[in-house]
Amino acid sequence: MQYRSIIKEEWDKALEQMLSSHDVFASVSNEFGQDYEHIKPANISGITYNKPKPATSLKNFFLPVRENVTGKRTSEKPRIIIGIPNCDIEGLSLLDDIYLDKDFNDPFYRKRRENTLLVASDCFGIAEHCHCLSYGINPWSSRIADLAVVSMDGKIIFRIISGKGEDFIRNIPVSGLPVEKELLIAVEKEHSATESLLSEANKGLPDYKETGRIVREARKETWEKYSARCVSCGACATICPTCTCFLLIDKPGFEKIKQLDACQYPGFERVAGGEDGLYELHTRFRNRYMCKYVWKPQKFQPVACTGCGRCIEACIGKINKNELFMELV
Ligand code: SF4
Ligand code: SF4
Ligand code: SF4
Repeated sequence: MQYRSIIKEEWDKALEQMLSSHDVFASVSNEFGQDYEHIKPANISGITYNKPKPATSLKNFFLPVRENVTGKRTSEKPRIIIGIPNCDIEGLSLLDDIYLDKDFNDPFYRKRRENTLLVASDCFGIAEHCHCLSYGINPWSSRIADLAVVSMDGKIIFRIISGKGEDFIRNIPVSGLPVEKELLIAVEKEHSATESLLSEANKGLPDYKETGRIVREARKETWEKYSARCVSCGACATICPTCTCFLLIDKPGFEKIKQLDACQYPGFERVAGGEDGLYELHTRFRNRYMCKYVWKPQKFQPVACTGCGRCIEACIGKINKNELFMELV
């Protein structure tokens, strides 16, 4: 893996110059927490590096909650997204499998993917419900993203992951320097420390290989017990980086609106004539687990839950999926 470094102030100036030709989004921390913001000169200094998990998942940059898919396509400036945790980078690879399918790809998704430079950020430290490592996902990126960044010792260190990332580094208006060996050792130490924190925080959580069996074997009583506090708000699916369901809504004038959907909503599976295979709350609740831990791993790639923990944080009923897994392991 190749590394380059740039003095932090020079990187900030280079970013400012890029704002005229690019839409730049980055993870920013403020009094409301940590989330992506559209970067302007005033908030460049607030960009957060090395910290886990913005509140919004990366999915929303590629699958907007609602869009007119028959409307006029507007050309968008090239985008740069900075500060993406590796759980979301891995989640994007599942979205790619679905939306870039060779026979039925989504042109809106494809265009956004082609138009976006992905700059991941290594997680130094963990947030309360992070459990990526339990599912085989490292808290730092080495694939799918274009670059990964670390901020350390007054420098921004880039790990170059793709050819697109390499071109970006070559073309920014300040020259990148080789990274000293001591700094790379310090970065590796941070990786190990974060991995230890994850292992410690998630002791007793079954790994991903076990999850499919647990979900398949769980009895109706378990689903009834855990869904008892579910109010069908759909927040768990909306916030999840790997939930992909959508509706197409017909509008007058032959317009079609694509809107994100969630299997937790009543009526999700209702068909003409009124039949609904997921009418009962506990069946809808189970559906999400079957989707994440059984069906998607069978059909696409092995890991369809990245362990980001956002569904736990978002749940109004305080339902914690990890408690379910630990009870049944
Ligand atoms: S199911 Fe929960 S923990 Fe897994 S990827 Fe979705 S939001 Fe994250
Ligand atoms: S079926 Fe449910 S869990 Fe699966 S992608 Fe759709 S909303 Fe998410
Ligand atoms: S976030 Fe919680 S309450 Fe809302 S649909 Fe999901 S499980 Fe149910």
